Amino acid sequence: MIRESTLAPDAAQLREVVMAGDYWLQIVKAGQTLRILDLEGNQAADTLFFSAADPAERYSAMDTIREQGNVFLTTGTRLLSNEGNLMLEILADTCGRHDTLGGACATESNTVRYDLEKRHMHACRDSWMLAVAEREELGLSKRDITHNINFFMNVPVTKDGGLSFADGISAPGKYVELKAAMDVIVLISNCPQLNNPCNGYNPTPIEVLVWA
Ligand SMILES: [Zn+2]
Repeated sequence: MIRESTLAPDAAQLREVVMAGDYWLQIVKAGQTLRILDLEGNQAADTLFFSAADPAERYSAMDTIREQGNVFLTTGTRLLSNEGNLMLEILADTCGRHDTLGGACATESNTVRYDLEKRHMHACRDSWMLAVAEREELGLSKRDITHNINFFMNVPVTKDGGLSFADGISAPGKYVELKAAMDVIVLISNCPQLNNPCNGYNPTPIEVLVWA
């Protein structure tokens, strides 16, 4: 459901542009609001959330989908953890829906889906692995790279239950905004994928904003 935010970008306490192929890893505190902005449109922001108090508690697609009875994420979606706790709630969304079924790109899946020659190409899983290695103090490791959200990515579900990666429904300036209900570690990979239309075959920057 489309809902615009009332927050002014000028009032944000943090604004950072994240290039495609880079990661963004920060703690967002309970009560703070996080906006992910698709600057040029048709970009996928592959995102993981963990409890800052105990990273073993993390975003759970299964619990979130079951409780809301819908596979798409949008305004009103309560992102639940694997312990059934509310982590964040989507309070504004100008894109309309976001995917949590398609998973993130990896060099392995690139070879299976596309071609053996794609193995050297940069993938979201690489960015996440680099992030957890560079920020040891957060206590994350390879085992924490689990099921994610693909903000702005269009993965329609067909009548007979099929999934496909389709051309994006996002556009320049579209955003999704989430209010944290607990202190959360946010790990975003701004997707570098070139083989499917999730980035319109042209990976572009996103901007991340946080309001106190
Ligand atoms: Zn990716």
